[in-house]
Amino acid sequence: MIRDRFAPSPTGNVHVGSLRTALYNYLFAKKNNGKFLLRLEDTDRTRYEEGAVENLLNALMVTGVVPDEGLFEEEGSIVQKGDFGPYIQSERLDIYQKYIKQLLDNGQAYYCFCSKERLDEVRDKQKAAGETPRYDGHCRHLTQEEIQAKIDAGEPYVIRLKLPVDHLVAFDDAVRGRIEINTKDLDDQVLIKTDGFPTYHFAVVIDDHLMGITHVIRGEEWLPSTPKHVYLYECFGWEQPQYVHLSNILNDDHKKLSKRQGDVSVGDFLKKGYLPEALINFLALLGWSPEDDQEIFSMDELIEAFDLSRINKSGAVFDRSKLDWMNAHYIKELPVEKLTAHMAPFLIEAGYITEADLEARGPWLDKVAELLRDRLSYFAQAPQEAKMLFEGDFEITDEESLALLKEEAVPVLYDALVEKLSAMDSVDSASAQAMLKEIQKEHKAEKIKGKMLYMPTRIMLTGEMHGPDLALIMEVLGKEELLRRLDRVRSLIHQ
Ligand code: GLU
Repeated sequence: MIRDRFAPSPTGNVHVGSLRTALYNYLFAKKNNGKFLLRLEDTDRTRYEEGAVENLLNALMVTGVVPDEGLFEEEGSIVQKGDFGPYIQSERLDIYQKYIKQLLDNGQAYYCFCSKERLDEVRDKQKAAGETPRYDGHCRHLTQEEIQAKIDAGEPYVIRLKLPVDHLVAFDDAVRGRIEINTKDLDDQVLIKTDGFPTYHFAVVIDDHLMGITHVIRGEEWLPSTPKHVYLYECFGWEQPQYVHLSNILNDDHKKLSKRQGDVSVGDFLKKGYLPEALINFLALLGWSPEDDQEIFSMDELIEAFDLSRINKSGAVFDRSKLDWMNAHYIKELPVEKLTAHMAPFLIEAGYITEADLEARGPWLDKVAELLRDRLSYFAQAPQEAKMLFEGDFEITDEESLALLKEEAVPVLYDALVEKLSAMDSVDSASAQAMLKEIQKEHKAEKIKGKMLYMPTRIMLTGEMHGPDLALIMEVLGKEELLRRLDRVRSLIHQ
């Protein structure tokens, strides 16, 4: 059975690249009726950040990239489920001890007592000589007695992998093909650190094997480490998994996607009101392409279409305008109640509506939401777009608008609007539209039609020259507010 995993370290916000890795693992497992695991790689105690695990679980849950095994959040606490646990590496220390002992006994690993100062010195010398810095093998040949004496004296140590001097390590990567490297070009990797914790390189191999992982789908930054992992599989006589290294996600400048160019964390995008479905759809196509040119995919469709052979070798540019386009598409498709629910928090934060309005003015809010729907790429834009509805005490200062309002016919239009609106019981978009048509008909002589009808009316009512459908705006504002707004601009029209 296919088993793959997402194995993040709890280091803060979830990068969109990490979510993509998780997603590809998820899609591949689902497509093949396999299992997708979530394992926490927390052996680097210095990188741990408070709240990181909760953040991670939340990002996966919200986006629907839900594991079959591993970590879950239940009623506010983190629980582990599955037959291959613990799924948190810091809870597996005794397991790593057992396997490191095996390597030590077989002479495939060794104690290293070199101090940081010595290692720095070695590295500096190598660098100065133009060599790739690596461990110089100083402790490779210590005798059993020397080792014991140092341990008894309480000297701190690490345990390193003892690579053979001239040995070819090879593996097949589903994206990059066959990769071969000679151990003479590799470093004697630290497997156990001074604090007794395993390094990532050691723990990842032990865990992937013990957890029955068949496919390792991860970012290309791990490719250089893979030969060391593969060699460890050899040491233990275990079958290596199928490796799948995903190319980096890139900025516009083709450098690795970084914070300097805008948001990169899943939380940032969700906070801005990008829809999880859109983010998933977008990330799926960032490094993988379907057989045809379909662009909009539900999760189920992605599962159906996903195929490792169509993962791209070259890095994919994170095209923010494409994400905006895609998100706008998903916003257009939302049922109105969801549209309102997504938009409301942003309008509340802007002070345009209150929590109580959600219940008290539900149908009206739905209309507001419908009005703004087509104007949004993401929901954080809602207050800006809604301004004309909620800030009625605008000043008209724009030259072009002022010039339009000075047209001869405008006072006539103004009076007609006030008269007709006053006579209406209430205003909805149909009656507003009919009313505007009537004005046009009755004032043919003054040429109040087309632009000369709609533009000044819009400016007088919203302060803006452009915006959503005017009749709908009128319905949302309602009779009283429309008359109040007209009254405010009276002196500008009738000077
Ligand atoms: N813990 C590694 C990370 O943070 C996982 C790498 C892997 O998937 O092997 O990305």
